[in-house]
Amino acid sequence: MKVDFHTHTLSSPDSPISPESLASRARELGIVPAITDHYSMASIKRIKKTGIQFIAGEELRVSVGKRGADLIGLFMNECIKKGTEVEEAMDLIRAQGALIYAPHPFDSFRMGLREEALLKKADIIEVFNAHSPDKSNAMALEFAQKENKAQAAGSDCHFLFEFGQTYTEIELDELEPKKLLAALKKGKITAKKSPRLRRLAHRALSSVLKPFI
Ligand SMILES: [Zn+2]
Ligand SMILES: [Zn+2]
Repeated sequence: MKVDFHTHTLSSPDSPISPESLASRARELGIVPAITDHYSMASIKRIKKTGIQFIAGEELRVSVGKRGADLIGLFMNECIKKGTEVEEAMDLIRAQGALIYAPHPFDSFRMGLREEALLKKADIIEVFNAHSPDKSNAMALEFAQKENKAQAAGSDCHFLFEFGQTYTEIELDELEPKKLLAALKKGKITAKKSPRLRRLAHRALSSVLKPFI
């Protein structure tokens, strides 16, 4: 099974992707998306209706001292309040039976977690984010290897063309948190950086087009 652990749809304030178009691309490419919208799980209902396999997630904004940081919950049932203190948010993710996924660690531009003590509490480390600089991706990989953490990759797509080039291949017969974690021990990552110029062009266009997409 190929999984993209980090995707956005129009329920995120900065993405025009409709859940239906992501679902049909996912079906076409044979990639299972984890839907990880910012502070929202509003697209989950629409994704469910398409009948594709997917993981219900949320990209939360937590607080780490005075700073904000991103954290993802996978297999979530409900959103966690924006600004929740990081360790409390981790407890709330676990209380839902969900997995803690650390997106773009060490990437300060993307508000990744960088405190090793906190990253140690995550179940999965995103060792490749298609938008992160090589340096923070390398730091994330080094950390995951050192701590023997499950590793995964995410396209962090906000536009449809970004979906499909970055994924993690795992042997998995059922989308279930424990089985997924075990399968990631032997995961194989295919990773491609998102082209920055094309992204910027889409960003400019989509801000004009969003009401119509
Ligand atoms: Zn993020
Ligand atoms: Zn994201």
